[in-house]
Amino acid sequence: MRSSRPAFRVLALVVALAGSHAPAKAQADGGSAVAMTHIELTLDLDYDQGSLAGTASYELSNLSAAPVAEVPFNLGRLMTVRSAHGPSGEALAFTQDVLVFGDSPKRQVNHVVVTLSRPLAAGEVIRLELGYGGYLVGYTETGSIYIKDKVAPDFSILREDAFAWPSLGTLSGRANRTAPRPDFTYTARITVPDAQTVASGGRLVERTTREGRTTFTYESVAPVPFLNLPIAPYALLSDQGVRVYFFPEDSVGARRVLRSATRGLELLGRWFGPLGTTPDLAVMEIPEVWGSQASLTAGIIQTADAFRDPGRMIALYHELSHLWNAPDTDQPSARWNEGLAMFLSERMAAELDGRDRLAENVARSASRLLSLAGDNPVLAEVPFLRYGQAGATDLSYRVGFLMFYALFETLGADRFDAALGGYYQDHRERGGTFPEVLERIQSESPRDLSRFFDTWVRTTGWLDELRAGTPVERIGR
Ligand SMILES: [Zn+2]
Repeated sequence: MRSSRPAFRVLALVVALAGSHAPAKAQADGGSAVAMTHIELTLDLDYDQGSLAGTASYELSNLSAAPVAEVPFNLGRLMTVRSAHGPSGEALAFTQDVLVFGDSPKRQVNHVVVTLSRPLAAGEVIRLELGYGGYLVGYTETGSIYIKDKVAPDFSILREDAFAWPSLGTLSGRANRTAPRPDFTYTARITVPDAQTVASGGRLVERTTREGRTTFTYESVAPVPFLNLPIAPYALLSDQGVRVYFFPEDSVGARRVLRSATRGLELLGRWFGPLGTTPDLAVMEIPEVWGSQASLTAGIIQTADAFRDPGRMIALYHELSHLWNAPDTDQPSARWNEGLAMFLSERMAAELDGRDRLAENVARSASRLLSLAGDNPVLAEVPFLRYGQAGATDLSYRVGFLMFYALFETLGADRFDAALGGYYQDHRERGGTFPEVLERIQSESPRDLSRFFDTWVRTTGWLDELRAGTPVERIGR
């Protein structure tokens, strides 16, 4: 996945987490053997027609063990590809057909298959460019009611959910979700009428206006798990490395979001010590029911209800807490930082907003895990330490949340903050592993934590204790 937390999609829309399954040949499991490492979008939006046109250029890498001769893409059903070019500018043959997903018969796309001029060897990287255009339409009929995407003056959004650009993939939703999907870098050059502002989690490189049309050029500051480009007559506020793009009528809420962000940064600094760098985070308002999604590098798209309701800052706090994560050098990572972010965002909401839902959310997560354990053998068999290898990091959010809650209850706030803050300060340059953070926590604790870590991290003992009715804060003691 997408490295956003599943809980961020409103209406319980589950964001697919990319597993770390061994890459397989396209025909073998139905997924694409090729992964995208960079995308460059150059698009012009036509608000009279509700359409867009331009090019998408890709850097693609063959992650499979076999050569790949064809690259499959899915594009919005009312869009067409007009050209395909290889790395030397040579025209490439391609087919395109409006088809439906095998496992989601209402998901209709223009399925495009590009034939490379010569097969791409295992591990090889290639650049290719597709020229395309057409009408941007939503996908609400598939059950994803948040995908209402269109080109319209009040609000537009360009994202993969509505196939606003040709997106690597086959006609299987399941295979596309489990295909390897590394984070990628991007450049987006989007031209709109000059009343519109294109927002992005990336860095604004250039903004030029000519004959009433403005081109916004953004570049990612770091690899992103997904790309959202919302467009509206936005106003912008920024402070201390946080940018908030908002609908002008929500200026009060935008100031509150920005203030929550700066207060959040201040609180995290108090807990864990100086960040040591300037944060760079964008919060972009989108209309209600359009599906919030969050990532530190890709930015946060946040539905308007959160701008209008003072108690809805959890997603923001979650992402802010990730700023205090030292680079994670586990390969593949169990992503324990997600569990920490889940815990810290609850703690921040309690401290900053007087919204203490910690006990309630611990109980909810515990009962959710108990019910999941019934038909998810991974939960009962794979310890937290191995979630990366097992492609099960979607569990790291809840299991990690409970573990860090129990740890906090065991150590107390001062030692908890000293351990995690100390780990961050020592490792923020060189990074560190899951065992290294456990070592650091042990060094701050007057009591022996071996049983605690065995129970929570090295075995699935926590689930046995949970099933036996042990309160979460007592597990591993
Ligand atoms: Zn997170």
